[in-house]
Amino acid sequence: MTPVLVVFAGLLGLVIGSFLNVVVARVPVGASLLPDSRCPRCEAAIRPWQNVPVVSWIALRGRCAACREPISRRYPLVELGTGLAFAGVAAWVLLALRPENIVAGILLFAAYAWFAAAGIALAAIDLDTRRLPDAVVLPSLAVIAILLAAAALVDGDLAALLRAALGAVALFFFYFLLSVVRPGGMGGGDVKLAAVVGLVLGWLGAGPLVVGAFAAFVVGGIVGIVLLARGSAGRRTAIPFGPWMLLGAWIGIVAGDPLAAWYLRLIGVDA
Ligand SMILES: [Zn+2]
Repeated sequence: MTPVLVVFAGLLGLVIGSFLNVVVARVPVGASLLPDSRCPRCEAAIRPWQNVPVVSWIALRGRCAACREPISRRYPLVELGTGLAFAGVAAWVLLALRPENIVAGILLFAAYAWFAAAGIALAAIDLDTRRLPDAVVLPSLAVIAILLAAAALVDGDLAALLRAALGAVALFFFYFLLSVVRPGGMGGGDVKLAAVVGLVLGWLGAGPLVVGAFAAFVVGGIVGIVLLARGSAGRRTAIPFGPWMLLGAWIGIVAGDPLAAWYLRLIGVDA
């Protein structure tokens, strides 16, 4: 059963990824998300067969069928990335979370798949515009909170819900303090996104929360050093933090417990 569900989740991810490309292109400019696919250059309508995730981009060889304008490689990459992310979340829910109840399992898949999808869109928008739009962050906070609350009720696991709420509050205030101490370093978008990250990490426990929060700074620091070393960023270049916060969160989600246990053993504390 597991492989079928994982493949199905992957196909769902490809379709959602196609929608995320619309979100990434239109949310920062405040355009409508209603399905009306057009070439940004010649405005030719994109036909259904030209809108199949990944396949159409390859069939069209990365160019608009009407005006031959190159279509960014990011479109198929976002679709493929979302497909793989959804397949990974399905496998993780089934094999690592092992929900006893199918409804709770579906709700947890929905919560973490939403986090993955919103994260892919936010990372792309942050890299493009140095912004994390409220139009993506705030609905994500509400939807994930509702899905986790529903999963907690179905599963009778109210402790997990309490942890998620505490995680959201803790990371929100941590980033809020950072934004006050170093204005210009963290923006308001980072602070609000931190609440979303705290929610999904806190649900899983203290290990994933601490590891996920810490990993963001390790990943962000490594990226900053690499950019400085390559000369593609100066000391004062603003480097968007959202993508690294999200990548760190996934390190915490997938490997938070073993990494926390390893670290505690390293410093001689038995967990
Ligand atoms: Zn065109």
